Amino acid sequence: FLPHLVASLEQVQQTYIMVKPDGVQRGLVGEIISRFERKGFKLIGLKLFQCPKELAEEHYKDLKAKPFYPKLIDYITSGPVVCMAWEGVGVVLSARKLIGSTDPLQAEPGTIRGDLAVQTGRNVVHGSDSPENGKRETALWFKEGELCQWTPAQAPWLQE
Ligand code: GDP
Ligand code: MG
Repeated sequence: FLPHLVASLEQVQQTYIMVKPDGVQRGLVGEIISRFERKGFKLIGLKLFQCPKELAEEHYKDLKAKPFYPKLIDYITSGPVVCMAWEGVGVVLSARKLIGSTDPLQAEPGTIRGDLAVQTGRNVVHGSDSPENGKRETALWFKEGELCQWTPAQAPWLQE
C-alpha cells in the first residue's frame, strides 16, 4: 500500500464502494454490505443503479489505454450495480484491505475477493484507491441530495 494512504489513516475519509454486476447477479449484495457495516464504518449513500456507458468511462478513465478496458466497460454496464459511499477514519485503506487484491486468486482468504471470486474480470466489488479518488468517485456516482449525514447510535461504542 502507498505510504500516503498509511499516513492518512487518522483522517475522516469517504470511499466509494460498488457491488459490480456479477456481485448483484450472484446475490452477494447483503454479504458485501455486511462486511463494511460490521467493521464499523458509516454508510452515507446507497442505491441500486444501471450505470450508463459514459459514467463507466469517466469512472475508469485512467485505465483507458489498457487492453481490457472495452471489456471492463461492458462488464460494469452489463447489469445493475449497488453504489455505496462509506465514511470513517482511515476508511479508504481499510476498505481496500477488506476487499483484497485485484486478482481474486491472489486475494487473501477473509477478504471479499478472496472469499467470493475467482477472476480479475469478475471480481465482484470496487473500492476507491486514495482519499482524493474517494471524494471524486463519491461525487461522480451520487448527487448531493442522495448522501445522508447522520450519527449512528453505535458511534460511542466504536470510538472512545
Ligand atoms: P482495483 O482497484 O483493484 O479494482 O483494480 P484496478 O483499478 O487496477 O482495475 C480496475 C478493474 O479493472 C478491476 O477491478 C478489474 O475489474 C478490471 N481489471 C483490472 N485488470 C484487469 C485484467 O488484467 N483483465 C481484466 N479482464 N480486467 C481487469
Ligand atoms: Mg482501482
